[in-house]
Amino acid sequence: MSKKINRRRLIGGLATGTAAAAVGTVSAPAYAQGKRRLKMVTTWPKNFPGLGTAPENIAKRVSAMTDGQLEIKIYAAGELVGAFESFDAVSTGTADMYNGAEYYWQGKSAAFNFFTAVPFGMTAQELNAWIDFGGGRQLWESLSAKFNVIAFQSANTGVQMGGWFNKEITSLDDFKGLKIRMPGLGGEVMRRLGAAAVSLPGGEIFPSMKSGAIDASEWVGPWNDLAFGFHQVAKYYYCPGFHEPGAGLSTGVNLEVWQSLSESQREIIRNACAAENASTMSEYNYKNATALNTLVKKHKVQVRSFAPEIMQALKQTSDKVLVEAAAKDPFTAKVFESFKASLANSMEWGALSEEPYTLARRKV
Ligand code: CA
Repeated sequence: MSKKINRRRLIGGLATGTAAAAVGTVSAPAYAQGKRRLKMVTTWPKNFPGLGTAPENIAKRVSAMTDGQLEIKIYAAGELVGAFESFDAVSTGTADMYNGAEYYWQGKSAAFNFFTAVPFGMTAQELNAWIDFGGGRQLWESLSAKFNVIAFQSANTGVQMGGWFNKEITSLDDFKGLKIRMPGLGGEVMRRLGAAAVSLPGGEIFPSMKSGAIDASEWVGPWNDLAFGFHQVAKYYYCPGFHEPGAGLSTGVNLEVWQSLSESQREIIRNACAAENASTMSEYNYKNATALNTLVKKHKVQVRSFAPEIMQALKQTSDKVLVEAAAKDPFTAKVFESFKASLANSMEWGALSEEPYTLARRKV
């Protein structure tokens, strides 16, 4: 039965005051009324701390707020489609929703990078500021709509770690020939420094490190990295994660599915995502600290900071990579301009607030 006929039947039902009966006779997923079940594919292993639990929590929040009228079934990476196929699955309607990281879709448009994280970009709070108040949301909606998707922030990892290395990184020469897993524009920065950067789904990192297929990998931070057991395959743990200073993760919805929901259901999804975004940031802040303690005290992991001259080279290379990425197409350039303006605004205030405060607190 075609959608056109369905819609006509529904309208007819509403007009005669028998909407419930009409809905019962048509294919349920196209309409707001009645119990619905949406399929959400994700780029994460099942129930992986923070990343995989966030979509589960969103589903629970949505179910509770709709009294079970809207259920979301979660598929881990590889269950319905592969991790990096999640976006296409939602774009084409194979799945209704995805949960992932926008920079995984950078092959479609470089602009997607800015809605997760870019090297030397925004912290979690700065990203929230841009998306919610600095014009980011409107640009994101325009971008996603080109692919029949609408997406929302629904988790944030906070500042990530620089990654796990099987050797010490003491000079820029140590990046030459290094096989490293680093997605997004951070990976491009690595390539400019002579490394061979690859983007692997999380679940493939440990075996690739163990077999020697890669020498180094970033993932997230102590909480998530401990869960994957990277301390068993690499000795040196570097900070900070220049490439992901506050990675925003997202939930996307097929635009036709979104439009078929009631305004109440749409608002519930928006709020479930916003609540999970805030909650994950708190959880990462708390659990990264305790997991770092375990890594260092129990597993004797060697924590290192990138030397100042390495950080400087990473910053200079990142600046070039961002400018070149933004020059790829006019829309990405527009996103970059908006991102830069909001970041400058946040940095101006941060220089007088959080920065001197946290520095002073540490010195006391
Ligand atoms: Ca990462």
